[in-house]
Amino acid sequence: MGARVLDGEVVAHAIRQEVAAGVADLLARGKPRPRLVVVLSGENLASQVYVRNKIKACEQVGIDSELVRLEGNLDGGRTLSTVQSLNDRSDVDGILVQLPLPEDADETRVLHALDPGKDVDGLHPENVGKLVEGAQGLRPCTPSGIMELLQRSGIAVEGTHALVVGRSNIVGKPMSMLLLHANATVTICHSRTRDLPHLARSAEILVVAVGKPAFVTEEFVKPGATVVDVGIHRIVSPGQAEDFFGAGSRQLAALKSGRSVLVGDVHPRRVKPRAGALSPVPGGVGPLTIACLLKNTLQAARVHRGLPAQR
Ligand code: NDP
Repeated sequence: MGARVLDGEVVAHAIRQEVAAGVADLLARGKPRPRLVVVLSGENLASQVYVRNKIKACEQVGIDSELVRLEGNLDGGRTLSTVQSLNDRSDVDGILVQLPLPEDADETRVLHALDPGKDVDGLHPENVGKLVEGAQGLRPCTPSGIMELLQRSGIAVEGTHALVVGRSNIVGKPMSMLLLHANATVTICHSRTRDLPHLARSAEILVVAVGKPAFVTEEFVKPGATVVDVGIHRIVSPGQAEDFFGAGSRQLAALKSGRSVLVGDVHPRRVKPRAGALSPVPGGVGPLTIACLLKNTLQAARVHRGLPAQR
C-alpha cells in the first residue's frame, strides 16, 4: 500500500478561509484592510511566477496588495531604499522581499533593514530571535506551513524523532526550531553530514529541503515514516519523468505533450511504497507557504491596529 497523501491544497484552503474571516472581522471593526507590498528585484523568471501567485492569493482573501518592481541596472541600494520607504508608510502592514535578490544586492543588509513588525517572511533577526525563544512573532512561511500540514493532518509530532535535511535560514533552521517547540527530538542534516541515509532511517518525521531533484530515495526512509518534501524542480527530460513517476505515469504523458512537470527533493516512485505519509509535489508544501504568508500579513495587520495576534 502506498503512503497516505498529505494534501497541502486542502489545508491551505482551510487557512485561506480563516484569513478571509479575519480580514472581514477587521473591516467589521472599522479598521482598514491589510496591505502587503511585494518587492521584486531583477529578472528572475521563477520569482516572477511566485510573486504573481502571491498577489493573486491576497486578492482572494481580501488583502490589498502592491507590487514594487525594481528593474534595469540595480545598484543594490535601490532595494534597500525601497524597503526603508515602505517601513515608513503607515498604510503598509507587510513587506515581502522576494528572494533571491540580484547578486549586486546585499541580502542580509536588506533583510536587516525591514521593520520587524512588517517582516512577513520572518527573516529579520528580531523575528529569528523570537522564534528561538518561542515568543510571539512572525515565523517563516514554509516551515509554519509544514507545521500546519502536520497538525491538521493528524500527524503527532511530540516525542518523535524528526530529521530535517537542509539548514537554510528560510527553511531548514526555522523548521528545526518549530519541530523542537512541538516537542520533537530534532536532528539537522546538511551537505557535510556523514551517512545521511542511515541517520534518516531512524526518523519518524523526515523533512527534506535540499534543493536536489528526487534526492531522497527509499534507503533514507524508515518504514511508515512521515515524509515532507519541500523541494520544487521542473523536470527536463522524459527519462527523468519515467524514473521519478514510472513508464505509464500521467507525468510522463504530460511531459511528452509539452506540459511542464514538477518533482520535489523526494523520489516519489521509490519513497511512496515505504513511507506512511508523503506530501506531494505539486500540491503539498507550496500552497501552504502562500497560505502562511497571508496568515502572517493578517497577523501583522492586527498587531499594527493594536489588536492581539491570533494563533
Ligand atoms: P538552500 O540551497 O538554501 O539549502 C539547501 C540545504 O541542503 C543546505 O543546507 C545544504 O547543506 C543542504 N544540502 C545540499 N546538498 C546536500 C546533500 N548532498 N546532503 C545533505 N544536505 C545537502 O535551499 P532552500 O532551503 O532555500 O530550499 C530547498 C528546496 O526547497 C529548494 O528546492 C527550493 O526550491 C525549495 N523551496 C520550496 C518552497 C515551497 O514553498 N515549496 C519554499 C522555499 C524553498 P549546506 O548548508 O551544507 O550547504
